[in-house]
Amino acid sequence: MSKTLAYAAQNASTALAPFEIQRRAVGPNDVAIDILYCGVCHSDLHTARNEWKNTLYPSVPGHEIVGTVTAVGSNVTQFKVGDIAGVGCMVDSCRHCASCAEGLEQYCESGFTGTYNGPVFGGANTYGGYSSQIVVDQKFTLHIRHSKDDLAAVAPLLCAGITTYSPLRQWNVGPGQKVGIVGLGGLGHMGVKIAAALGAHVVLFTTSANKREDALRLGAAEVVVSKNPKEMAAHANSFDFILNTVAAPHDLDPFLNLLKRDATMTLVGAPDTPHPSPQVFGLIFKRRRLAGSLIGGIAETQEMLDFCAEHGIVSDIELIPIQSINQAFERMLKSDVKYRFVIDMASLQQ
Ligand code: NAP
Ligand code: ZN
Ligand code: ZN
Repeated sequence: MSKTLAYAAQNASTALAPFEIQRRAVGPNDVAIDILYCGVCHSDLHTARNEWKNTLYPSVPGHEIVGTVTAVGSNVTQFKVGDIAGVGCMVDSCRHCASCAEGLEQYCESGFTGTYNGPVFGGANTYGGYSSQIVVDQKFTLHIRHSKDDLAAVAPLLCAGITTYSPLRQWNVGPGQKVGIVGLGGLGHMGVKIAAALGAHVVLFTTSANKREDALRLGAAEVVVSKNPKEMAAHANSFDFILNTVAAPHDLDPFLNLLKRDATMTLVGAPDTPHPSPQVFGLIFKRRRLAGSLIGGIAETQEMLDFCAEHGIVSDIELIPIQSINQAFERMLKSDVKYRFVIDMASLQQ
């Protein structure tokens, strides 16, 4: 066991503050990682504030982790001391159900173990990446092949990257397709970059007209201000696929009505209260589909990291000291981040 500095929420209404946790001793299959950088996902905020009504306290968020390997167990063959490694949203799963057998640990029938907040279907708490170090089974540890200069901007790939890559791949997004990304936040800006790299014609939907130039720079071919019905109507029945990353409840029908016959809109945003729609008729008259998607499996996460390294894709980030995490949460709620906060974990020692 080793004492580890962290930042934790003690309940739903108090700010995150310094807290000491214990990490387990390095077992035969474990990799110990000194955390260099941790991205700030909207799920961290949902969890710290118990917005999904399942938070275990104390809550140490953080599941976009990049760091340096400091020790490995006797059975570990794929990592060595000094390697740069990543940890995403999961640190374990049952490993034998049908989903795990297919490499879809995120859909583990017993519930995967989250990097923070413990097993999905109940059990002991786990502590995430807003901390100085972490010990993780090698099976849930990722290789980082980006340049060392990019490591802070690589961290958000471990959740925002895979959460957008997985559905874009699942629905075969590629050249010749018109693909919508809804919301230009942490997930959305990764969705734009990855969909563009896959060769799609990308249209970004935003509620923030001032993000137009950025969206075009990030890879969108067109930008639609979704509050403007005229701009929306111009795209009726024209999309092959839409990925909706919005973190708040909103009317889905204006987006569903932009899908072609048989096309799909996939939700990855996870608001704390339900969306007010869809209307059934918008779906049945064009055999449209509304779907969901949860992060991605470990093998697919490695595939995404390698794809991004090959295509020069990282996140657009604002690097912050951990002492600014509570202000960062407030700014994220106002969509005031371009486009992901990343914590420089060296600040934890100050
Ligand atoms: P984020 O950085 O806060 O981005 C969300 C974006 O949604 C905002 O930038 C904003 O974009 C748009 N938005 C916010 N409020 C809105 C509203 N009331 N109406 C319309 N648009 C609004 O959050 P994130 O980290 O990308 O996470 C997004 C959501 O995905 C969260 O709910 C998070 O928990 C969830 N998530 C799910 C998975 C999964 O596996 N399914 C994984 C990670 C995260 P514009 O300013 O462009 O409109
Ligand atoms: Zn996340
Ligand atoms: Zn399983």
